Amino acid sequence: MRPALATIDLDALVANYRWLQEHGKPGRTLAVVKADAYGHGAVQCASALAPFVDGFAVAFLEEALTLRKNGITAPILVLEGCLAADEYAACCAHRLWTVVHCEPQLAWLEAHARRGAPHPERIWVKVDSGMHRLGFAPEALSGVIARLERLAVEPRHLVWMTHLACADQPKHPHTAAQLERFAQALEALPERYAQVPRSIANSAALLAWPAAHGDWARPGIALYGANPLATEPLPAALTPVMTLRSEIIATRWIAAGEAVGYGAAFVAERATRVGVVAIGYGDGYPRTAPTGTPVAVAGHRTRLIGRVSMDLVTVDLTDLPESVGVGAAVELWGRQVLVDEVARAVGTIGYELLCHVRRVPMRYL
Ligand code: PLP
Repeated sequence: MRPALATIDLDALVANYRWLQEHGKPGRTLAVVKADAYGHGAVQCASALAPFVDGFAVAFLEEALTLRKNGITAPILVLEGCLAADEYAACCAHRLWTVVHCEPQLAWLEAHARRGAPHPERIWVKVDSGMHRLGFAPEALSGVIARLERLAVEPRHLVWMTHLACADQPKHPHTAAQLERFAQALEALPERYAQVPRSIANSAALLAWPAAHGDWARPGIALYGANPLATEPLPAALTPVMTLRSEIIATRWIAAGEAVGYGAAFVAERATRVGVVAIGYGDGYPRTAPTGTPVAVAGHRTRLIGRVSMDLVTVDLTDLPESVGVGAAVELWGRQVLVDEVARAVGTIGYELLCHVRRVPMRYL
């Protein structure tokens, strides 16, 4: 077997969840396991978290059904809601909670009710407090309530939710403005609707915006030990769950002035010992990672050199002990090299890198 591998530390995942759950108290915490648990394997992650969770969140109905088919019985919220009238039947049959964020979804819910079917156990009504992506405008809420009342959806079946656009930047004024707009929208409602539980916080808000904790937090990326915050370090209590690793499969010395790899993009300034690693963009390592991107070889931090190919990357072994050669362990990201460091070098976010891992086997610890 090729040495490339992603290891997923399920104990670290559970410890991260429990820390976030404690941090969010007295509110409750949905573990966001959409997009195959951010590339970590939704069924495996949800199964490990199941004894501890208040509930899960996924993006789409299919993701929720996969969890149900694999024995997950905890509440599951479908964040993007139903995408057609007939999805409400599956939602009810599998006791899923669903978001309603737009007029067509209300109309599909009404069509579902006209067939004599019950409404979903919990409906999370999404309010657009300034993200301007999904959600009802604050002024539309009284109309939404009136329509839900006609379907016998009562306040105890509801959660008000909103999503923050800039929570990753602590102190960003947009977040304060969104929190204010959300609060005002709900205060304007009749008392029994103003008392309905609220959900605001993603990972960044849970870590950096206490005012956004609300009744239900929805952390995703922090569960996996990656950093949602643009300018602050991740709390030390949170541990990276995925380690993407491979091995050195060849080494060579090149003289100063010689180049490495496609495009001869890296030219050695001094005699350089090159290590060739059996992993590439075909495995989800980003092709755009430039020379200098951190990588750890046999526990030593060093740098990527030259272009990333489909199956291989090249690293600088010049200053590493001579004994570090073929067979040496290489960590592309994990605990020695944070996925956020690689993401920063590439100009993306850890979320994208984690979601893109493919072809390599996943080993669950
Ligand atoms: N809530 C909603 C509505 C989301 O769309 C997401 C993810 O994009 C999350 C929560 C989790 O966000 P994060 O992974 O930043 O914690």
